[in-house]
Amino acid sequence: MISKIDHIGVAVSNIDEAKKLYEEVFGLEVSGIEVVEEQKVKVAFIPTGNSKIELLESTDPEGPVAKYLAKRGEGIQHMALRVTNITEALEEVKSKGIRVIDEKPRYGAGGAKIAFLHPKDTNGVLIELCERE
Ligand code: ZN
Repeated sequence: MISKIDHIGVAVSNIDEAKKLYEEVFGLEVSGIEVVEEQKVKVAFIPTGNSKIELLESTDPEGPVAKYLAKRGEGIQHMALRVTNITEALEEVKSKGIRVIDEKPRYGAGGAKIAFLHPKDTNGVLIELCERE
């Protein structure tokens, strides 16, 4: 069901400031910046070999990333696992008793289909299932 870690999502106060670490210190390159209105978030992807780092900056004080930052400060917000078929993967995890935040897949940055699982059933880790071409 899972092929790899697709990306690690990091909540930051400011993408322009935070990306300096990855570009200037680590020598990586930001591949694209996109606003995902539905999630009230601005996203920057940084490819790192076989997976990516996803920087997340809130675009709205009521958005999930703003709430995360207010509660816990900057840090790793979620882990995304690549699946080949998200609809099937979602049904399978639900059938095994894992609660989900998204009953149906929704649009994610970079044209992915994504769904979040409930961290209470996943050892406190917010897990995103992610299907992309
Ligand atoms: Zn993500």
